[in-house]
Order: sequence, then C-alpha cells, then structure tokens
Amino acid sequence: MPIYEYICQDCTQRFDRFWPSVAAADGKLPICPACESIATRRVVSQVAVLGESGGLTPQEQSAAGAQTEKRASITSQEQIRTLQANRQKRREQGR
Ligand SMILES: [Zn+2]
Repeated sequence: MPIYEYICQDCTQRFDRFWPSVAAADGKLPICPACESIATRRVVSQVAVLGESGGLTPQEQSAAGAQTEKRASITSQEQIRTLQANRQKRREQGR
C-alpha cells in the first residue's frame, strides 16, 4: 500500500494519502484536507521539490545553485592544497 506525500498549492498544507496500489495513485491528486482545494501536487522528495522549483523563487534557486558551486570550488581548492601539502611533505622527507 503506497503512501504518497502531497502539498496543497493554495494553503501549502502537506499531507499523506494512502492508495490501494501504485497504479491507483498514478495520475490522481487528492483534495487538500485543510482547504478542500484541488490544486495539490505530489511531493516526490526533497531533491525533486528543489529541482521542480517547488516553493522557491528563481532568485532563491539561483542563489542556492551559486552556493553549491561555491562550496564545490572551495572543496576542490582544498583538495588541491592538501595534495600540494602532501607532495611538499614527501619532498621534504626525501631529502
Ligand atoms: Zn489547501
């Protein structure tokens, strides 16, 4: 029995819905239990929600993307520095 998480796009209420089978849930969206809106959508995962721009403005998305790139470049620079330090150590030990 699959359980899917949904979010209401009108009142941002998140709720779980049980389905008798995966096929039964396919293509169907439940009504929001809080405001009875039909503007609901399935929450697949945190990653997918970010990828679909769920809840994030384009500005927030690009900011999040820039942060990720920054973090990635810092990590690689640190890795290079560590490699260089290790090489330096090896050179010193070789003398
Ligand atoms: Zn709602």
